[in-house]
Amino acid sequence: MHKKILVIGGGIGGLAVSALLAKDGFKITLLEKNKTIGGRARFLKLDEFYFDMGPSWYMMPEVFENFFSIFDKKVKDFYQLKKLKINYRVFFDDNDFVDIYSDIKKNFLTFKKYEKDGDIKLKKILNEAKYIYETSMKNLVFSDYKNLFQLIKPEVLLNFLRFDIFQSLHSYIERNIKNPKLQKILEYTTVFLGGSPYNTPAFYKLVAHADMNLGIYYPIGGMYKIVEALEKLCNQYNVRIKTDEEVKKIFIKDKKIYMVETNKGKKYRADIFVVNADYPYFETKLLPKQFQTYNAEYWDAKTFSPSAFIIYLGIKDNLRLSRHHNLYFVTDWKTHFDDVYKNKRIPKNPSFYYHIPSKTDQYMAPSSCHSVMILVPMPPGVFLGKEEEKVFYSKILKTFSKINKLENIEEKILVKKFFQAKDFFQDYNAYFGSAFGIAHTLSQTALFRPRNYSKKIKNLFYVGQHTNPGIGIPPVLISAQIVYNLIKNYEHLLLPNLYK
Ligand SMILES: Cc1cc2nc3c(=O)[nH]c(=O)nc-3n(C[C@H](O)[C@H](O)[C@H](O)COP(=O)(O)OP(=O)(O)OC[C@H]3O[C@@H](n4cnc5c(N)ncnc54)[C@H](O)[C@@H]3O)c2cc1C
Repeated sequence: MHKKILVIGGGIGGLAVSALLAKDGFKITLLEKNKTIGGRARFLKLDEFYFDMGPSWYMMPEVFENFFSIFDKKVKDFYQLKKLKINYRVFFDDNDFVDIYSDIKKNFLTFKKYEKDGDIKLKKILNEAKYIYETSMKNLVFSDYKNLFQLIKPEVLLNFLRFDIFQSLHSYIERNIKNPKLQKILEYTTVFLGGSPYNTPAFYKLVAHADMNLGIYYPIGGMYKIVEALEKLCNQYNVRIKTDEEVKKIFIKDKKIYMVETNKGKKYRADIFVVNADYPYFETKLLPKQFQTYNAEYWDAKTFSPSAFIIYLGIKDNLRLSRHHNLYFVTDWKTHFDDVYKNKRIPKNPSFYYHIPSKTDQYMAPSSCHSVMILVPMPPGVFLGKEEEKVFYSKILKTFSKINKLENIEEKILVKKFFQAKDFFQDYNAYFGSAFGIAHTLSQTALFRPRNYSKKIKNLFYVGQHTNPGIGIPPVLISAQIVYNLIKNYEHLLLPNLYK
């Protein structure tokens, strides 16, 4: 008889694990709190402007290809991928800007222009990044960390140590590159990991390999194409997807969940439960204390990733100075990171990122217009009131106009929407309104991240960005494969060992 599995949450993690398990014959029901699936990767339409609400960088393309190959499919069966020629444009606050290209030779020239032997230094950093990336993909990221020492060979460990992986990324880059602009280009990627260059270990220089060596892609139609692809796989294998159903109550007997109840008063029974909803919220708000593997004190002691103030704009202008991905860095960006992580206050002089998919994909906006998503990292737990929101928006818009040399920008804005910490909290049950879950600091990486299974409830598993391997769509797809493998072994010898 096929076992019944209930998946709580229809983000990338919930959809991916549902498709994998359903393909093996498990009977899957997925409950999603919101009216649409996708979680943080949802889609927004304002008049004729289209926006990806969260993720916009399509990186590590081989992870997607590998995932779909499990279903004998290819990425191109679901969407068309385009490799960007200019990965991104970086604006500095002294009116200078730098383009980072998919053609690595051009980046070597840029680094040489800004710093003596900059090209040689970049090559060295990228070689180390490539080694760490490839070794981690082979040995680490698919692990549930039940037996670490079988995973890492001594020679790999020695190389990792040689590459200074434990110091902060900032210290590592500062030792290797002296020009502050180039330093920022090699450090900003820590924000992808929910951290800052000052609290993220140099192990994550591996992201530079994903960025500069592997390149940045864009799925025509937007990142939501990934969600649609997963939905198609779920449909193919008869996953029952129920939206607008928020799990509110859990029923436990003999250290096993046997039933959940939703906001509609509906009850769902299953043999196994997989949680894709935010891990800290689920453990502390829905499980009784004695069944929490990680209690409130544990989560409160963690470093959470930033929240974000996001502005979605439909603009009637060609924005000729901008590219598909754009970053704006203030000279003193450490103060912004300190405001986010230490002072927990609205940053006074923020750096930010903005995305213009309509630069690559004309269907994302009406003709002569662009859809723009501006993302400013903000401290988790700081909810802006209406007036604060207005003031902060004006500040960001002023800088955006300056970068783009635009006058009277308000007259060119046809649609506008904000999304901030309190929306992350309301829409996704995000702890502290965090955008990305817990950050990848040294003590929150690999075996130190919350596990993919509960240690207190026998039939409960966790998938998504809070657990292993971590934040971002590719890691979340890998997380689904880890949970899939754990559940496949559930019937056999493995699981009892987890409870020793
Ligand atoms: C602004 C932003 C920008 C990002 N940029 C990038 C990027 O460029 N590239 C990249 O790869 N990644 C990016 N990320 C990260 C990436 O989007 C996430 O890591 C990933 O989408 C998380 O997926 P998930 O399945 O873990 O969680 P989620 O997407 O949060 O899914 C969890 C789901 O559970 C649901 N839920 C919560 N509580 C309940 C309940 N009680 N009952 C039922 N359902 C419930 C939620 O509504 C949600 O749909 C970004 C994220 C954000 C927020």
